[in-house]
Amino acid sequence: MTADRPQVRTIYDNVEAQFDKAADLMRLDPSIRKILATTTNEIVVHFPVKMDDGRVEMFTGYRVQHNNVLGPFKGGLRYHPAVDIDEVRALATWMTWKSAIADIPFGGAKGGIQCDPSKYSRSELERLTRRFAFALGSNIGPEYDIPAPDVNTNAQTMAWILDTYLSMMSPQERNRCVHVVTGKPVEAGGSLGRDKATGQGVVYCIEQWAKDRRFDLSKATYFVQGFGNVGSWTAKLLKPLGATLVAAEDHTGAIANAAGIDPEALSTHVAARGGVAGFPGAKAVDHKTFMATQADIFVPAALESQITKGTAPLLNVRLVAEGANGPTDLDGDRILTEKKIDLVPDVLCNSGGVIVSYFEWLQNKRSESWDLEEVDAKLERRILGGYERVKAAASEFDTDWRTAAYVVALRRLHTVYTRRGIFP
Ligand code: GLU
Repeated sequence: MTADRPQVRTIYDNVEAQFDKAADLMRLDPSIRKILATTTNEIVVHFPVKMDDGRVEMFTGYRVQHNNVLGPFKGGLRYHPAVDIDEVRALATWMTWKSAIADIPFGGAKGGIQCDPSKYSRSELERLTRRFAFALGSNIGPEYDIPAPDVNTNAQTMAWILDTYLSMMSPQERNRCVHVVTGKPVEAGGSLGRDKATGQGVVYCIEQWAKDRRFDLSKATYFVQGFGNVGSWTAKLLKPLGATLVAAEDHTGAIANAAGIDPEALSTHVAARGGVAGFPGAKAVDHKTFMATQADIFVPAALESQITKGTAPLLNVRLVAEGANGPTDLDGDRILTEKKIDLVPDVLCNSGGVIVSYFEWLQNKRSESWDLEEVDAKLERRILGGYERVKAAASEFDTDWRTAAYVVALRRLHTVYTRRGIFP
């Protein structure tokens, strides 16, 4: 990585530039810098899947393992046409920072399949998932690399991976490997509170920001991009706090209603119709109008590179709380700072998912099952610990919150490398 990059072109370029900024600022040891600037393993698999009509299609799957010095590789699997090695590399690297900031004993990984899952039947998706798990083989494992849900994957996907993975083991070993994936259905070893965990974490961060800013959330307005797991849970959990959802957008379009959109009703509509478009309680708006929505808070909870040179100038909010991974590119960050918009960065804001994945993993290892209150209380403590560390680093280095979040992560990784040394 070099400090002066000519132009940000890919998502991984964005990660490199964020990393360089923090590493320069904290004068990170050059050896540690070299190690963390590189992914450890990059697995690409091509595998055939039988379609319902008897045809065979070839698919490409990825698993990038960035770093495991703090613990097993950890991170989600996404199914999306935009999945490629560059994106997965970036997402894997963000996972390393995320676990380090939350102070959980995991490294970073990410994977996925380049496909449009809306084109496939449930049984095709099951065969696709099982064949991918088979192709990954021992590249994943309960103490080695632990996948979880991400974009377009869910508890069902994890249950198929679990079943396939366990079927490849001897019967004697199966019951001690249930923690090979997290985000499982509760009945199949999942944790209570895992489904809503990322949204819950976003809301804990927003509540803390409001406290810090002496801002009354019960009068707040906000809008959400993406109404999948993260966006919809964030909205449903902000509702009891009195905040009003005034606009939402996803791949089907954008909708707005300054008088308020009911998150529960919108979730029901999305489940039935596949997206926010056509929701009766709001009017359709274009993307620019959506991004320019006048509100207190914007929660991007969809894909990468949404807050950019083109869209950041439109934002009319006090806070961006990043539910998505990588929603802001370098220009976007610069413009947010210029506009004095507060930022709770992705690697902190959306860490609720991996934090509760850690709780699920612990429960599986100990054959325990915690009640929801316990999970929520532990999540709140853990994510707000990260929040305070990032806040402290931002003031220590007089820098923006994204760079501060990197400083927190890199410090922790630096300490471990310094203690352990480099083999041989
Ligand atoms: N896919 C989620 C993320 O990006 C969760 C990862 C996990 O639980 O391992 O953080």
